[in-house]
Amino acid sequence: MENEKKIGHLHPLTIVIDEITNFFLNWGFSIVRGPEKEDEWHNFEALNVPADHPARDMQDTFWLLPLEERKLLRTHTSPVQIRYMKKNKPPFRIISPGRVFRNEATDATHESQFYQMEGLMIDKQVTLANLKGILEEFCKEIFGPKTAIRIRPSFFPFVEPGLEIDISCFKCLGQGCSLCKNSGWIEIMGAGMVHPNVLKAVKIDSNDWRGFAFGLGPDRIAMIKYGLDDIRLLYGGDLRFNEQF
Ligand SMILES: [Zn+2]
Repeated sequence: MENEKKIGHLHPLTIVIDEITNFFLNWGFSIVRGPEKEDEWHNFEALNVPADHPARDMQDTFWLLPLEERKLLRTHTSPVQIRYMKKNKPPFRIISPGRVFRNEATDATHESQFYQMEGLMIDKQVTLANLKGILEEFCKEIFGPKTAIRIRPSFFPFVEPGLEIDISCFKCLGQGCSLCKNSGWIEIMGAGMVHPNVLKAVKIDSNDWRGFAFGLGPDRIAMIKYGLDDIRLLYGGDLRFNEQF
């Protein structure tokens, strides 16, 4: 079989990103992309994170030279929603998959670059019930039809209220195992209703328009789905690993 050709196939992250984007495309969302090199206003200010806000410390940033230009590698995909909202009139539904960067040490659960996907829906009558409904369907699609979701209050400066979304553990079905750290639940994404200050920054009247946003990590979803214990496997380029998917 010396002439046998090696046929390539999709990387596990690509598979997961495709699954996620296909779900949202079916729900009427469009894919929007933005630059990886960002400025301070789009990455922080417009998202209700002013200069002295402690939330800036939550995201260690790669600043680009010369420092006085205040350019950076985006720490999340949220600036894409700012750029989109500045240019377009609501209503809209968008998702923005892309790479983000954090200036932090690499270990089994942290990479200095990874993928994120931001979702945003703005309309006249959007409520938390819409957010819950769509994320419930999403989690069933990605993790199986028996998946339940749990919503906990949380804090992100660009949403109010802010929420953390957990899914029921599909491995132990709630009995407790190592994947869910014996809690029966797995943290899957952050979400919330778009903060009025964010709408104000892009000149959308929050008396007329409201909406929700969510942010999820395709790397984390791939790790949970495929039972991977080290994020670095996804970026090692080892074909013996990649060929298992
Ligand atoms: Zn479990």
